[in-house]
Amino acid sequence: ARRTTTGGGGATDELLSGLLVRGGFDRGSCLSRFESAQYFKYSPYTPPSAYLLRKLRAYEARHKKCAPGTPLYAKSVERLRSGSGSGPGAGTEYCNYLVWLPYNGLGNRMLSLISTFLYALLSDRVLLVHVPADFADLFCEPFPDATWVLPPDFPVANLSDLGRSPEQSYRNLVANKKIAANATAVPPWVFLNLCHEKDVDELFYCGADQLVLAKVKWLLVFSDKYFVPSLYSMGEFRGEIHRLFPAVESVSHLLSRYLFHPTNSVWGLVTRYYNSYLAQANRRIGVQIRIFDFARISADDMYTQILACSRQEHILPEIEAAGNLTTTNNNTTAGSGTVQHDTTAILIASLYADYYEMLKLRYYEHAAKGGVRVSVFQPTHAKVQVTGQRGHNQKALSEIYLLSFSEELLTSGTSTFGYMSASLAGMRPTMLYSARQRRVPEPPCVRMVTMEPCQHRPVSMECQANAVTKEDLARHVMTCEDEGLGIKLF
Ligand code: GDP
Repeated sequence: ARRTTTGGGGATDELLSGLLVRGGFDRGSCLSRFESAQYFKYSPYTPPSAYLLRKLRAYEARHKKCAPGTPLYAKSVERLRSGSGSGPGAGTEYCNYLVWLPYNGLGNRMLSLISTFLYALLSDRVLLVHVPADFADLFCEPFPDATWVLPPDFPVANLSDLGRSPEQSYRNLVANKKIAANATAVPPWVFLNLCHEKDVDELFYCGADQLVLAKVKWLLVFSDKYFVPSLYSMGEFRGEIHRLFPAVESVSHLLSRYLFHPTNSVWGLVTRYYNSYLAQANRRIGVQIRIFDFARISADDMYTQILACSRQEHILPEIEAAGNLTTTNNNTTAGSGTVQHDTTAILIASLYADYYEMLKLRYYEHAAKGGVRVSVFQPTHAKVQVTGQRGHNQKALSEIYLLSFSEELLTSGTSTFGYMSASLAGMRPTMLYSARQRRVPEPPCVRMVTMEPCQHRPVSMECQANAVTKEDLARHVMTCEDEGLGIKLF
């Protein structure tokens, strides 16, 4: 794919060639919306297709018309409260909604939110977000003159505790014959479990069931995964996704840049760190090290893998043998600060401090080849994964953004945290393979052929067999490099 840079910085194209609109926003209340273009190094697939821009503007108009606080929202909520589903009186004067319920880590949440928003575009719905305390103060409102936050008096109680398979889940409604393909009346709301694990509402991915769901005014989406490749595999959506994204590799990149704008509190973390530690370098390399329990290896082995990968893909600066001092062409006087050097900043994101310590020592004890000055930084090392705490989520979000401001990315396979940083960066990262049988993988890593995230464990549905031909799919859907059971768009 074409990779272009924003060139002269954000001032010229802070709205990403029309992806974002200016009207309807107060600049000071969400600085990142207007400033982030200055920090991103690449903006491939910009300008976006005119069709995507039209679709987004139409979405924004619909959202404004139907958002909380509007008479249409009040009317729809009243219908829900009174238990009325479809049927007489539920015509086009009502809006149709998707309520997204957060689940799992931040990377997972962002990927499922992108997928749910794409589904809202495809099904003419309005996306509202349930924001429990740990998810508050992370993202600005993305749509002009309206909120996407679901008000606390929403009539379905205990949204955070519905579980995976409540009575109102689509599979239970079908099993209990409370909803049927040919029925004219449907329940007022339906819960959809689109997660990785059990009790998944697999029928969601069938065309016939989409026709039934289209009649339901309120769909509650519980998901922690990127399900765009499965949407693409459906006959009813494939053509439209192509029109919106002529290069299907750009879905998560463009939608993440459209939807996610860190709040000023998070943006403060991001910009303070970037400007203090990263801005001065000529080149930034983001390294994200995630160690899953199923792939645990020692810190020494992981370090060996990072270096092997770096050698294979030429990522980190190589070093001189111990004791060798490099001479550069620059005649420099210590401390004079007048000579421009080649400088590389390595930014590490990890729950652990080991790789930071090891890499820092590497460039302290050895000169980097070519006289490059190498600095190594890591904003936090929380040691344990904490999900469900606002402070942690804010730091995690800040680090996803800091990674996405790199010229080069080395991320960990299978990690949605890493997927998100590459999508935002608009860059195909190099990805470390997860260890199997506690051994350093060989080869250690692979350069991705697409910046799209992997959909882990997609359902394979009989109903899809005829929807899209195999040849058609093979052209744009591939097995993930880092997950044998996953699929991704390319
Ligand atoms: P995944 O588990 O790697 O797919 O990524 P998720 O973001 O879904 O979940 C991991 C969670 O652990 C994150 O949301 C963070 O709270 C935390 N975490 C993992 N790696 C890092 C890291 O490098 N930095 C920070 N600040 N938090 C991390």
